[in-house]
Amino acid sequence: MELWFTERETDNIKVQWKVNKTLYSKKSPFQQVDIVEFAEFGRALVLDGIIQTTIFDEFIYHEMIAHVPLFMHQRPERVLVIGGGDGGTVREVLKHPTIKQVDLVEIDKEVVESCKKYLPELAGCLADPRVNVYYVDGFKFVQEKEEYYDVIIIDSSDPIGPAVGLFAKPFYENVYKALKSDGLFTAQTESPLFNSQLIRDVYSGIKEIFPIYYLYTAQVPTYSIGPWTFTLGSKKYKREDARHYDENMKLKYFNKEIQRSTFDLPQYIKELL
Ligand code: SAM
Repeated sequence: MELWFTERETDNIKVQWKVNKTLYSKKSPFQQVDIVEFAEFGRALVLDGIIQTTIFDEFIYHEMIAHVPLFMHQRPERVLVIGGGDGGTVREVLKHPTIKQVDLVEIDKEVVESCKKYLPELAGCLADPRVNVYYVDGFKFVQEKEEYYDVIIIDSSDPIGPAVGLFAKPFYENVYKALKSDGLFTAQTESPLFNSQLIRDVYSGIKEIFPIYYLYTAQVPTYSIGPWTFTLGSKKYKREDARHYDENMKLKYFNKEIQRSTFDLPQYIKELL
């Protein structure tokens, strides 16, 4: 018998994925955690019925959330990743030779433990001695830091459940405080087609806190049928300050052409802001 997983995108759209098998399923204190193997996109992390990442296209999201801010910073050494318990973002951060410390703040230990076992291509990097993993709420964690990080990456789940606070202005004020005087941050900010109000709210909040701010996009087939946004806030560095992409990194999505055009936006997204 065929097994199909249904993801609800909006009240009117559901997308079905054929499943080979379920590898792991557990209710944690925060959410339902499942690791499944899809017939087309391979192994995937699913939280509360929403697909977070798949082996097939995770590189697009993780390269874009990590390398855009890291190349914009002139010498990133100390990085904070909030959420991101699958390890994909940390893996990309560690590709930068200047990195000395990566703090991963994931609220749910179950996510990290299950990804270490079933998605080692992503979570294997968490054994690197430069990585510290904290199982606490990212909102609280940044409240206690001052002028500490070069780059902060907010790789959160959708703005429901434990991640709600990570999309609100008080959180971005604390992110500002936790960054050094030349620090910058990037957050995943959902679909421009289905979450336009959220993107507008987040962007206008960041605009009031950071002197430099940009929105950028990537096409991630796994997420809400394609286009995805990221919002970046910076204290000092602008897009023209970015160091050039190092071809020796041999990334799969990010390259010098993508870097040059990162902040070019389609007209409908410009108008949305
Ligand atoms: N790439 C994914 C996406 O855009 O769908 C997100 C990655 S997923 C691993 C995000 C993680 O954020 C989840 O594991 C979740 O447990 C964690 N998270 C949610 N709220 C959090 C919070 N307040 N503090 C820290 N981690 C949080």
